[in-house]
Amino acid sequence: MKFGKIHLVDDDITTLHVDAIVNAANNSLLGGGGVDGAIHRAAGSDLLEECRTLNGCETGNAKITGGYNLPAKHVIHTVGPIWKGGKQNEPKLLASCYLRCFALADKYGLTTIAFPAISTGVYGYPKKAAAQIAINETIGALKKNSKLEKVYCVCFNQETREAYEIALSQL
Ligand code: ADP
Repeated sequence: MKFGKIHLVDDDITTLHVDAIVNAANNSLLGGGGVDGAIHRAAGSDLLEECRTLNGCETGNAKITGGYNLPAKHVIHTVGPIWKGGKQNEPKLLASCYLRCFALADKYGLTTIAFPAISTGVYGYPKKAAAQIAINETIGALKKNSKLEKVYCVCFNQETREAYEIALSQL
């Protein structure tokens, strides 16, 4: 079963021993609050040095770096949309984040990857709608990329866990 490769976990994403953790970054890729701040703190200043060479990242796109002091080998930085009510292409842009992250996972032959709930913090995307997009795109990627062994959806709070559980129960 492909869905058996999707795991909901409650940990801090910076503690996970995976091929890549995904960072919900901003367009500058030079650090921010939330999960972005936590990742940069845990990875150390060499991550910021590498990010400076990337010339930022467009919303809906993703770029990969090393993991430095993190237990994860790589960080995939993606920039989710800011929620503006849902009519500004937000669902497509959020889906694109997941697609681009999975495309990099494929390109680099990654087998394990962990996602935070992109855009659902400061960027205000409704958690249930975001979880459905995350799960749909994950299933699409698992169907295409047989190298992927485990996809972790990190639930940093109970509301996020519930949103993923609903999305998974509707499959
Ligand atoms: P965005 O700007 O894309 O909304 P945030 O970092 O504000 O990004 O929030 C994205 C998600 O990451 C939220 O669900 C938030 O609760 C979660 N989050 C924050 N810190 C961590 C962490 N250390 N590990 C995993 N998830 C986290």
